[in-house]
Amino acid sequence: MSGLRILFVTSEMSPYSKTGGLADISAALPKALGAAGCDVRVVTPLYGFIDTGTFGISERSTNGHLDLRVAEHTLRASVRSVNGTARSMTPYFVDCDALYDRPGIYVDPFTGKDYIDNDYRFVMLARAALALCSQDDWIPDVVHCNDWQCGVLPLMVSQARRARKGWEHVRTVFTIHNMAYQGWFPPETLGRIGNGDEHYFPGGPLEFHGLVNFLKAGVAMADAVNTVSPTYAREIQGSYEFGFGLEGVLRSRPGSVSGILNGIDTDIWNPEADPLIAARFDATSFENKKACKRALCEKAGFHFADDVPVFAVISRITGQKGFEILGPAIPDILNRPAQFVVLGSGDPYYEHMFYEYARIYPDRFAVKLAYDEELAHAIEAGADFFLMPSRYEPCGLNQMMSMRYGTIPIVRSTGGLADTVVDADEDYEHGTGFRFHDYHTGALLWAVERALAAYRHQTRKEHIQRNGMHQDFSWARSARQYIELYQESLGREPLFST
Ligand code: ADP
Repeated sequence: MSGLRILFVTSEMSPYSKTGGLADISAALPKALGAAGCDVRVVTPLYGFIDTGTFGISERSTNGHLDLRVAEHTLRASVRSVNGTARSMTPYFVDCDALYDRPGIYVDPFTGKDYIDNDYRFVMLARAALALCSQDDWIPDVVHCNDWQCGVLPLMVSQARRARKGWEHVRTVFTIHNMAYQGWFPPETLGRIGNGDEHYFPGGPLEFHGLVNFLKAGVAMADAVNTVSPTYAREIQGSYEFGFGLEGVLRSRPGSVSGILNGIDTDIWNPEADPLIAARFDATSFENKKACKRALCEKAGFHFADDVPVFAVISRITGQKGFEILGPAIPDILNRPAQFVVLGSGDPYYEHMFYEYARIYPDRFAVKLAYDEELAHAIEAGADFFLMPSRYEPCGLNQMMSMRYGTIPIVRSTGGLADTVVDADEDYEHGTGFRFHDYHTGALLWAVERALAAYRHQTRKEHIQRNGMHQDFSWARSARQYIELYQESLGREPLFST
């Protein structure tokens, strides 16, 4: 039992709010930390679209309001929680209409643009998290900050170390979930958030090419920095291609940037007990996986055939995910006996491309441009192959979900994909999928070719499926590594003092 008190601050948390993997992690990691004996408080916004009734989110009995002072403004917020949550992991929702009562998390769905006050909204989240600790007389040991939205939080904690009694020992851990999103704002931001002026100068922790860069602030000021896979940790320090300009800042930190692989929630993603799939199965009952494939084909409007492989993609549709190399590969894949399902939404260019393929191959290609959790489960259970040709991939969750459901991943060897998928031709005994290195369509098709060769031999195919299904992707292992990181940072002098 670690007994550590962790304040975990996040802009998304599944199932309440989600744009990607951060939401999954913000639910599953605190749960695993709680199970490992930590006392974890998760603080996240109460967005306008969260149905408080459905989730049982209510006022706390002890709750007074929080007055959040920023520059010359004071905003009034309150904090809500979920009835009956385990005491070791409590989510707290910051309820402040002026900041969060909106239909989008970062982007206004009406304009397609970022909300213009995103700097202010997420600095206020950090401020509310610290105010909540005072209100409850609860002092964390570690404040776990996630992504650019929490970039200024390490600075705020270093100020608290000086100003608040009992906070001297508190340390910050900053986790980078994606280097591409850095939170760039004009210098006027510092006036709006009422903090950080003295750290904004050329080359200073808050400055990057004449702009305020929240991610850089987090990297420069946190006591420990990590990202979500060992390979991505190396990649983001190695070149602009992955570090997006912050590679030098990462390398110059005195502590190393570690990589801790994400897990998946194995209660939710469990083919043996999943209520959202047509038939439950494990590594000894592939007949039932076949029933899931039949159900998926029915949903997609395909003719079901045991020997025709179904390829799948579930993804945010963004450039990161490799659609520019996948697009030209699709006709090649479909010109043989194969079927293809895509679930996702995002960039209109690629959405249009998928629509076109659905028009050209109506009996073999199906696309749903939506966010659909239930369909995601049906696809993971029913597909034969899962494609992730990502240009970069901090960790990736879908390849792990796929392996757990006996769906063989075909991935580009980058970031967490390289760390979680073992190529079945390189390691015949332990292979769990197929990997390719070069970022081009030919390399992807070569991996597809090798995957199809394995598919034609049932014993080989099932061997690869079983290897994947037997992997341990639970959060317990990662939670242990995070606890070590917390303890290490608590054992050191603070990196940054105000
Ligand atoms: P990222 O965080 O870059 O989007 P990850 O693989 O880490 O990628 O996590 C993506 C998560 O979002 C997974 O849980 C995936 O199943 C889910 N997801 C993405 N798009 C959709 C969608 N359209 N419908 C349902 N789930 C989706």
